[in-house]
Amino acid sequence: MNGQLDHRRLYRLPWSLTDNVISWLEPTKECNIYCEGCYSANAKGSHKTLAQIDADLDVFERYRQTDAISVAGGDPLVHPDIVEVVGRITRRGLKPVVNTNGHGLTDDLLRRLKKAGLAGFTFHVDSLQSRPGWKGASELELNRLRLEYAERVAEVGGISCAFNSTVYEKTLPFVPEILDWARRHADKVHVLVFIAFRAALQNRFDSFLGERPVDLEEITYTKAAPQRTDITAQEIVGEIRKRFPEFEPAAYLNGTEAPDSFKWLMTLLVGDEERFYGSAGPKFVELSQVWNHLVRGRYLGYVPPSVHARARSLLAFSAVDRGLRKAARAWLGAASRNPLRLAKPLHLQSVMIIQPVDMMDDGRQSMCDSCPDMTVHEGQLVWSCRLEERLKYGQLLRFQPKKADKSSVPADA
Ligand code: SF4
Repeated sequence: MNGQLDHRRLYRLPWSLTDNVISWLEPTKECNIYCEGCYSANAKGSHKTLAQIDADLDVFERYRQTDAISVAGGDPLVHPDIVEVVGRITRRGLKPVVNTNGHGLTDDLLRRLKKAGLAGFTFHVDSLQSRPGWKGASELELNRLRLEYAERVAEVGGISCAFNSTVYEKTLPFVPEILDWARRHADKVHVLVFIAFRAALQNRFDSFLGERPVDLEEITYTKAAPQRTDITAQEIVGEIRKRFPEFEPAAYLNGTEAPDSFKWLMTLLVGDEERFYGSAGPKFVELSQVWNHLVRGRYLGYVPPSVHARARSLLAFSAVDRGLRKAARAWLGAASRNPLRLAKPLHLQSVMIIQPVDMMDDGRQSMCDSCPDMTVHEGQLVWSCRLEERLKYGQLLRFQPKKADKSSVPADA
């Protein structure tokens, strides 16, 4: 294996604009910390009213079949009615999943969210956040904080627990360590999400609103310090495989302009506290997505922690899935050398790698085809990663490569 992924060998996730696993609700733009890679401006007091939130949910339900609602922001926990927001999503028969930095999560709030029907947390924890009490902490030191959140969620029970981290050039080498930490706590950590850092490239492109040139200074995602903005999902996989060669992605979403890019890349790992045994393959993902849609009318987004803990029974799908067959063989081989392994629980852990907007050389932007993170702006579905453009300019910007500076052309050219 040369390590290069071929999208034609993976399962193209069946999600679409109108039928998707999640939708992205922003009840507020206010946040209580600062993250370097955030797409969103921090706007104090920008909480939507419950009526506005209901209107956004109506738009999702009108245009889109959806399994879960990502309640994001800003940090949704600073919204004074967050428990009611979660309750309203639950009452619509959707799964509420709160995307938070975790800083505002008290035990009382956690219990009330659970009572309101919360299906999952996605905690955003990474080392380029200014987080009170954790200034200068490395990715590895932050595993202590991740564990604290995971333990608190596990104590309440029945809530899926995911962690996401933005991947910067300097944090890329730590991705396998974070995954290894998650493996050791697979009973409490069900999903990991790695998001490649992106920012608008003012030095390479001019931006326009229609024909009018626009200064990008006002947009949040131009503000981060200069650094790589082209880390790919494939590169993150390469980094992980240095440590976990059994890491085999199974399914993907492609880019709108680059069909062979991996914008959302899904891997389902089977492992116990000792090691990973392998990854489920494309057939298993296809079966689970199609079956869920057939039976429940929706593609499958979040599953309860009990499903992640049932990897042993999922090995029955070895009959149709090569990846699970390989994992089952590796597990049985390890058990034959040490039968005690048979007594240990086997977990299914999901890793999603997201490669957001890619700027093409000619100024086109390759978005995630069938974007799961669509949000609502003025009654329309819009990409949440580019909501700032809609808010500031009323429409999306157009980009064009900067014209070559004639003064830099050699005289004899
Ligand atoms: S298009 Fe933007 S909002 Fe949609 S999934 Fe990709 S990065 Fe997220």
